[in-house]
Amino acid sequence: MTKLSNEYIEEIVKACRPFAAKGNVIDHIPGLDQSSLTDLGVTIVTLDGETYSAGEDHHTFSFQSISKVITLLMALEDFGKDIVFQKVGMEPTDDFFNSISNLEDYEGKRPYNPLINSGAIATASLIKGGSVDERFDRVLSFLQKITENKDINMNQEVYDSEVKNGSRNKALAYFMESTGVLSNQESDDALDLYHRMNSIEINSLSLAKIGCFLSNHGRLIGRKTQLIQAEHVRTVKAIMLMAGMYNESGTYAVEVGFPLKSGVSGGIVGSVPGSMGIGIIGPAINKKGNSCAGGEALRILSRDLMLNIFHDK
Ligand code: GLN
Repeated sequence: MTKLSNEYIEEIVKACRPFAAKGNVIDHIPGLDQSSLTDLGVTIVTLDGETYSAGEDHHTFSFQSISKVITLLMALEDFGKDIVFQKVGMEPTDDFFNSISNLEDYEGKRPYNPLINSGAIATASLIKGGSVDERFDRVLSFLQKITENKDINMNQEVYDSEVKNGSRNKALAYFMESTGVLSNQESDDALDLYHRMNSIEINSLSLAKIGCFLSNHGRLIGRKTQLIQAEHVRTVKAIMLMAGMYNESGTYAVEVGFPLKSGVSGGIVGSVPGSMGIGIIGPAINKKGNSCAGGEALRILSRDLMLNIFHDK
């Protein structure tokens, strides 16, 4: 079997970079433009504490939809499974991540799951705190802890652009207000927290640490303290496998075979149970919102290192 090394990750980066040509970079997100088209950073952090990394792994980019994993972890810890899944479902959907029409047809007009925009806005209302500032501070300090990176913060320019381009998300929040998923005290704050979380700056090393935290059942490597209950971490990983790659999640479950979550700035976090976390940045995304080069890197890693959880051991 292939052995992990920085050279091996470098080979993957080299082989996958050309796949960026199949996609496009979102141009309304500050810091991302055509000059980042062929960027690709791949980082692996193993449960033994080793790091393997190559490419543009030091570039920061905005968290976008990957933040939905953090929202769900914190909401589960703050309110428990029953309350969270009264507000959102736990079913996959084949609609686009910002679909509004699917809010009309699911039971109780709830979002299908917490990893689409409507679901994450609803879940954001379940992060505790006296104000949006207080709630966002809790998010930042949790994220800084699990990535062991004190510099993680929000990018104001990205936030301003999220708000400016956020009419669709506003519509989702107000639709959910009309159907009682959110109260009218909750919707504006949930939306603001959602936009702030999308605007957090992160790099592939920090993403890999998040993946590792999930693989390590909610603990930091080498520490006993359970920062999130193991049961909640299991729930989040199951939903990531079903819905983490938007309406391409089924393909990834088959072709890669472990929990993943992507974002439209081209980031992907992966959690391989019992072995490692993977962080990827590859800003050219396909029509479904997933990194083209990053997706290819995951397929190769899964095959070479036999990471598919359905693989017979
Ligand atoms: N920030 C964007 C939105 O809220 C993109 C989220 C994502 O990565 N899909 O629509």
